[in-house]
Amino acid sequence: MTDIPFVDHWYNVVPDLPGRPPEPRNSEGGDELRLIAQITPKGLSYLGLSRRRHHAIPDEVRQRYTDFGRPTPLTNAARLAAYLETPARIYFKREDVIPSGSFKINTALAQAWAARQEGYDGLVTETGAGQWGLALSVASAVFGLRCRVYMARCSYGQKSTRRQLMELHGADVIASPSQTTEVGRRLGAGEPDPPGSIGTAISEAVEFARDHPSFAYAAGSNVSYVYVHQSVIGIETARQLRALGEAPDVAVTCVGGGSNFAGFVLPLVYGDDAFEPRPVMFACESRTIPRLTEGQYRYDHADPGGLTPLVKSYSLGQSFQPPATHVGGLRQHNGSPIIGLIHSQGLIRARAYSEEEVFEAGRLLARLEGIFPAPESCHCVCGVIDAAREAAERREACVIVGCISGAGALDMAGYQAHPGRRDGLVQSSNGVLV
Ligand SMILES: *Cc1c(COP(=O)(O)O)cnc(C)c1O
Repeated sequence: MTDIPFVDHWYNVVPDLPGRPPEPRNSEGGDELRLIAQITPKGLSYLGLSRRRHHAIPDEVRQRYTDFGRPTPLTNAARLAAYLETPARIYFKREDVIPSGSFKINTALAQAWAARQEGYDGLVTETGAGQWGLALSVASAVFGLRCRVYMARCSYGQKSTRRQLMELHGADVIASPSQTTEVGRRLGAGEPDPPGSIGTAISEAVEFARDHPSFAYAAGSNVSYVYVHQSVIGIETARQLRALGEAPDVAVTCVGGGSNFAGFVLPLVYGDDAFEPRPVMFACESRTIPRLTEGQYRYDHADPGGLTPLVKSYSLGQSFQPPATHVGGLRQHNGSPIIGLIHSQGLIRARAYSEEEVFEAGRLLARLEGIFPAPESCHCVCGVIDAAREAAERREACVIVGCISGAGALDMAGYQAHPGRRDGLVQSSNGVLV
């Protein structure tokens, strides 16, 4: 790791994009845009609509970023490169070292700070696997706010440790679809134990915020102010690479709602910290939710209840029911206008990976580098491995940079479901102990 000056601003990519992201819209006869504006802290709405490139990080948020481990390290994965017999140099940005377990804290702290500034008592949100809910619970505790989390029912059972952690930080966690909202009762009707998704939880959180004005709605991904907050990851990475004298040829990460991708990859490609020539943007998704590789570019709601505005992006359809996988953080049927715009211009290389492949890649990273990635982050490891193998075929000493968006410690169930080899370390065919 190299010392870099503390990042004091967020970067808004919108003015530098190759076109204007399509505006969100109301559905016919609907008033979703006004509803979202009504339940979102004004400062965040403003940031989401801004056309300014740079926004100063408020002092109190900067202080909390430091408390929670920023800047995070950039690790040179030399043993992985040796194992893959690639001339490429591989780096990983390490959001997994954050004590609350993932990069989501970057926007959680900023949103909780904004809500407290504007006099709200609490925050309500949705969560899939629980990383976002946990980050918001922690940030709410830090800024003295209540926190209410609607958690996809299938994850509520699967990820009970993370639920207990949220509760430990003082959050109320409710399995979605639930009986506590009208939309939850509607979406859960007719099934004894509906698995739910991030989508059903969004519908419920939005309805709760609408009916409880002392609570603001907090969004974990997808929306542009979250992308702005997450830019701190990419700006730090750009500075760390420059301090090492490196320029990335490929920037890889996983994509669900796209905030990790936008925060990590886009500042390496656009704006003041970007590299020339532009690195290839590589997005890795789950084969069970293949939005970018198989979805359609069209307007759709982000939630099956239809409470959120229509946004144009790659979608599998509002009624797409994601299977109950171990990659809860990627289980959503649509994405954001920013990622949609860039992908529609053919600027993103996208690939989908199976659960089998991703846990195998995670295990490899654990053995070779001592890094234990979250299931979502394992998708990035798959993409990095693909890019490194291609570099080996071309005999090209390129630089590949990936982002480990979170830690795997609370996701042992996924690793256990795909156990792989259990014996100790063995010598690979090229002599690397793995
Ligand atoms: C939420 C999450 C993701 C996915 O982020 P998006 O912004 O939805 O693309 C990836 N990794 C981890 C660890 C997460 O918590």
